[in-house]
Amino acid sequence: MKKINKLLIANRGEIALRIMRTAREMGIQTVAIYSEADRKALHVRFADEAYFIGPPPSSQSYLQQDKIVEVAKQCGADAIHPGYGFLSENAVFSQKVRDAGILFIGPSAKSIEIMGSKLAAKQAAMKFGIPMVPGTEEAISDIPKAKQLAAKIGYPILIKASAGGGGKGMRIVENEAEFEEQMNRAISEAQSSFGDGSVFIEKYVTSPRHIEVQIMGDEHGNIVHLFERECSIQRRHQKVVEEAPSSILSPEMRKEIGEAAVNAARSCDYFNAGTVEFIMDDQMKFYFLEMNTRLQVEHPVTEMITGIDLVREQIRVAEGHTLHFKQEDLILRGHAIELRVYAEDPANNFLPDIGKLHRYVRPQGNGIRVDDGFEQGMDIPIYYDPMIAKLVAFAETREAAIEKMIRAIDEYQIVGVENTLAFGRYVMLHEAFRSGNFDTHFVNRHYKVEQLKPAGNEEEEKVAMLMAGIIDQKHRKASEDQPAANGNHGNQWLRRRTYGR
Ligand code: ADP
Repeated sequence: MKKINKLLIANRGEIALRIMRTAREMGIQTVAIYSEADRKALHVRFADEAYFIGPPPSSQSYLQQDKIVEVAKQCGADAIHPGYGFLSENAVFSQKVRDAGILFIGPSAKSIEIMGSKLAAKQAAMKFGIPMVPGTEEAISDIPKAKQLAAKIGYPILIKASAGGGGKGMRIVENEAEFEEQMNRAISEAQSSFGDGSVFIEKYVTSPRHIEVQIMGDEHGNIVHLFERECSIQRRHQKVVEEAPSSILSPEMRKEIGEAAVNAARSCDYFNAGTVEFIMDDQMKFYFLEMNTRLQVEHPVTEMITGIDLVREQIRVAEGHTLHFKQEDLILRGHAIELRVYAEDPANNFLPDIGKLHRYVRPQGNGIRVDDGFEQGMDIPIYYDPMIAKLVAFAETREAAIEKMIRAIDEYQIVGVENTLAFGRYVMLHEAFRSGNFDTHFVNRHYKVEQLKPAGNEEEEKVAMLMAGIIDQKHRKASEDQPAANGNHGNQWLRRRTYGR
């Protein structure tokens, strides 16, 4: 058992802050690292110590493995938490950290390696009888053979890069005529994007829901699941809205999918926090997709419904403690929804936006949690993920959580960059989402850009924008005079303006 006294967080933004907050509650000293672009970032200010590690591009800063380990050694950190993204799923890094005598807050290098390859992961999980999407179990490059297999599986087919991630490296093939061309493209894309041309084919589940299970294990062989999250509202195969629990699972199915996830974790001797991802078809059959060997962006919804601080548990497990709860101790209570507030333009294909947060006021109140790494006046840097914040609403029922989310979205003021707030509102109000009858095609099927705009013609819109400007100025003046000035009026117009652009 080793007590962690000083923790280096090898990350930035909201997740670095989120980890530091728990560390501080546990009496652990926190160490930030930062790039040139993050000199003034909140995670740097929050930490007890902060070290500059290089220029803005992550390849020269947040991905500099040796430099980060060196900083940890120099400052006497006894553990490193990698957060998500960057080096969090890098087996080599986790080993380097451990070789330097520092605790790595995450699973073993072996687990990361197995689960880092979609193919190796499938092979490991299959041995435990976990249901798989029909498809090839090995990389395939022989096109005539692949074509034969595809015909056997049945179209549509999905070609996937084994080393793929982040929604990249996937190609849907509707029929045999397209197969060869798509296969060639997929291989060369996988080679250029991931440095590994291995691809495999899978049945394309036409009406899939993304359901994932949070698991937690200790280094003494105990593994439990903390129920599921549903992440079917996606754009570009990437999540934007997540919730826990899923609106469609019965208690029996919850138990079944939870046990499958625990088995997937066992298949690679997993410990610490991890997520097993499944897709569910329209017959409510679930299939293993992959395992993420780290804390997920959407972990707060699980924390809300279980009352467990996952970061605290990760730290305890890394210190060598046994899990402080058993499966039967875990109780699912209430409903939580998360909206990822991205600096992206939902009216323009969700293209990333950059700029200054001229106005940035977070929502507050009962059941609302905002995890972010920004303040009013800050710039959204172009170098990193364009997520501004995670807005989480928690209530006793799903309906109440949806209403709370809408209220919080309306209270949130973001001016200066396009963002996904209005899109989130659209989702919350949509019948398909409210009824629970949706899948990963929600955006393509139900999302209409025109409906984000305020009713009325362009003239009216211009007036609205003009008014917003005037009221914005007035409001700024008023809030300078009186910090807690009521911004209701400005709010309404500003929202209209954000929607209209
Ligand atoms: P990544 O690692 O790039 O995130 P995943 O394997 O986790 O890739 O898949 C991401 C998303 O792609 C899923 O949430 C789902 O929407 C879609 N997807 C993946 N595999 C299939 C499949 N066989 N059929 C239909 N959709 C799929």
